[in-house]
Amino acid sequence: MKKKYLLTPGPTPVPAEVLAKEGMPIIHHRTTEFSNIFLKVEENLKKVFFTNNNVLLLSSSGTGAMESAVINLMRKNSKAIVLETGVFGSRWGKILQGMGFSPIILKEEYGNAVSLEKLEESLKENPDVLAVFGTLTETSTGTVNNIKEIAKLVTKTDAVLVIDAVSGLVGEEFYQDKWGVDVVVSGSQKGFMLPPGVSFISMNEKAWKMVEKSDLPKFYFDLKKYKSKITEGQTPFTPPVSLIVALDESLNLILKDGLENLFHKYKKMGSIIRESVKGLGLELFSKNPSNVVTAVKSPDGIDSGKIVKLLREKYGVSIAGGQMDMKGKIFRIAHMGYMDKFDLIIGISAIEMGLKEIGYNIELGKGVKIVEENILSCNGCCSD
Ligand SMILES: *Cc1c(COP(=O)(O)O)cnc(C)c1O
Repeated sequence: MKKKYLLTPGPTPVPAEVLAKEGMPIIHHRTTEFSNIFLKVEENLKKVFFTNNNVLLLSSSGTGAMESAVINLMRKNSKAIVLETGVFGSRWGKILQGMGFSPIILKEEYGNAVSLEKLEESLKENPDVLAVFGTLTETSTGTVNNIKEIAKLVTKTDAVLVIDAVSGLVGEEFYQDKWGVDVVVSGSQKGFMLPPGVSFISMNEKAWKMVEKSDLPKFYFDLKKYKSKITEGQTPFTPPVSLIVALDESLNLILKDGLENLFHKYKKMGSIIRESVKGLGLELFSKNPSNVVTAVKSPDGIDSGKIVKLLREKYGVSIAGGQMDMKGKIFRIAHMGYMDKFDLIIGISAIEMGLKEIGYNIELGKGVKIVEENILSCNGCCSD
């Protein structure tokens, strides 16, 4: 019996209250009992997205909601801009290419955030662009993008802004309506503290008008079907009933804490872990680090994959390695969803031990001490 510690940027730990709800006897979905739960979930999701739009639920991981955005908004032969700051930005490009488009890809060196200048220029050069696809928290590099400023540029044009907030929502500050983000997609297994399996998409009027003109083939992910059912608390096809019952509980927990308080909590956790990592003599990968996941450069000559494997197999502590070009070069610790200040101690402690064991000269306890001192000095502000 080995205790496991999940500190990965998805899936994230699920609180016992939420798991218990998921384990309840299944109910039938074409009932008032289910509709009432679904309508409550819908109202609460709007609070999390800070929107008055309907938030539609799909049975898929986050990528399914991304694909649904593409096929419901785009038209044959239309143009799109992709803001690529890492693996998830590049996924927008791949989805578009998979659907036969040749998007304009504004790629930054990984670790950097979106360049507003480049976006502004590209929008000027391409006034016929239909949509701009970007990422709130680029989980692969631990970077947060400046969506508020990006939205200011896109709202001036006829294009819609589509933001992947799969790992960012509930963690990073984000206000869909206030910032003018036309479409937001998210997923269950990160900030929402649920198992994987449900994704979300919220679209404003500007985007729905575009949906009316979209001519790409679609059936299961035809969002008009979902929208037409939502006021009666229903989905067009069988929903993941147990996950939605569990989501009702996780939203209760999130709203009880309050989103502004949670933004503050993750901000604090992000700053503590960054200070601790730097104190250990390690370097952050991101130039604009996010508050929900921290990417750390592996010391020269050390394959980060080895550390990740060692921590998981020997100590039961799961952190993430690098993806694509960053494979072997970085490791990533999450501080999103159901994670708290003492989880930072577990993460940093495991990394110190792992590095030491692999032969890197590190002073045990140095990073842990920084976390402890910060927790003490912030007088509980990073707890609940
Ligand atoms: C996790 C994640 C996704 C979705 O991945 P799935 O495996 O399809 O759930 C998309 N974007 C970002 C930024 C993510 O972190």
